[in-house]
Amino acid sequence: MARIYFEGDADLSILKGKVLAVIGYGNQGRAQAKAMRGMGLKVIVGNIKDESWFRAKKDGFKVYEIRDAVKRADCVLLLVPDEVAPEVYYEEVEPFLKDGALLDFASGYNLTYHFIEPRADLDVVMVAPRMIGAGIEELVGKGVGYPSLIGVAQDRSGSALKYALAIAKGIGSLLPGGFAVESSFEEETLVDLFSEHGWAGALLFILKESYDLLVEAGVSPEVAILELYASGELIEVAKAICGKGLFRQLKLHSRTSQYGQLTWGPRYGEAVRPILREALKGIKDGSFATEWALELKAGLPKFKRLLEFTEGFEISKSEDSLYRTMGRR
Ligand code: NDP
Repeated sequence: MARIYFEGDADLSILKGKVLAVIGYGNQGRAQAKAMRGMGLKVIVGNIKDESWFRAKKDGFKVYEIRDAVKRADCVLLLVPDEVAPEVYYEEVEPFLKDGALLDFASGYNLTYHFIEPRADLDVVMVAPRMIGAGIEELVGKGVGYPSLIGVAQDRSGSALKYALAIAKGIGSLLPGGFAVESSFEEETLVDLFSEHGWAGALLFILKESYDLLVEAGVSPEVAILELYASGELIEVAKAICGKGLFRQLKLHSRTSQYGQLTWGPRYGEAVRPILREALKGIKDGSFATEWALELKAGLPKFKRLLEFTEGFEISKSEDSLYRTMGRR
C-alpha cells in the first residue's frame, strides 16, 4: 500500500525564508505560485518575455528572465511543458542553480526517460498534482485540497521528502479534502501516459465510432451527438464515478441501463486488453517516449497531420453546426 500524507505530515516552516522560483507561469505555474504566496512563502517567477510574463507581473509577482530567477532561488519549480523542459533545464536552469538547491517537477516524464539528469548536488523531488491549474486555483480559493503524487529522485540533504511534502502543503494540495500519495517519477509517468494512451484516447474514438454507426443507422447527427456527449450526461456519470465509485454509481441508472452495461461492458474489457498491454509495453520500454522525441525533433509533422485529420471527421463538422445552435461556438 502506498503511504498517504495529510496536512499534519508536512512542515511548511522548512520553506520559510527561502526563495522559491516558479519557472513557467502557465497552467500549473500560475496556480502553484499564487497558492504558495497565499501560504506566506517568498515566490518569484521566471518566464520568457511573453504574455505569461505580463500576467505574472499583473498578478503582483517579481518576474525575471529564467536564469536570473534561478540565480536568486533556493528552490526551483520547473513548470514548463515537458517537451521543452530539457532545453530550458540545460540552458537556463542547471548552470545557474545554487549548490545544493532544491529542484521540483510536476511530472516524472523527463527524469524517467533520462531527458533530464539533474546535477548530483541537488535535492530533486516531484509534486505532481492530479488537478488542472484552474482547478487548483478554485479549490485553494475555497480552502479545499486535492490529490498529488510525490516522489524523490535525489536526496542529497537527507530532507528531500520533507521538502516535497512542504511544497505539496504550499501549493494547497494538503488542505482539508486533499492529500499526497507516496509515488515515484517512474510510477507517475507510467500512470499518466497509460491514462492518455488507454481510456482517454479510447473514449474519443469509441464516441466517434458510435456516432458514425448511429448516423449510418438513420439517427440524426444532432440526436447522436447530444446522446453521446453534448448533453452533459457524461459529466454527471464521471462525477458519480468520482463520488460513489466505478460500479457503485450504477445504482443511479435504470435497471435496464444497468443490465445493458453489465452484459455488454465486459466484451469491451476483453477486446481492449491486448491493446492496453501494448500501450503499457510502449511506455515501459521507452518506445513511446522515443517516438515522441523524434516527432518533436522533426517539427511535429505527424502530430499536425493527425490533428488536421480530426477536423475532417463527420462528427467534428456536425458538432460545429450543433454547437453554434447551442451557443457554444
Ligand atoms: P503550460 O503549457 O501551461 O506552460 C507553462 C509555461 O511554460 C508557460 O508560461 C509557457 O509560456 C512556458 N513555456 C512554453 N514554452 C517555453 C519555452 N520554450 N521556454 C520557456 N518557457 C516556455 O504548462 P503546464 O502548466 O500545463 O505544465 C507544466 C508542468 O506541469 C508539466 O510538467 C506538466 O506535465 C505538469 N502538469 C500539468 C498539469 C496541467 O493541468 N496542465 C497537471 C499536472 C501536472 P507560454 O504561455 O508562452 O506558452
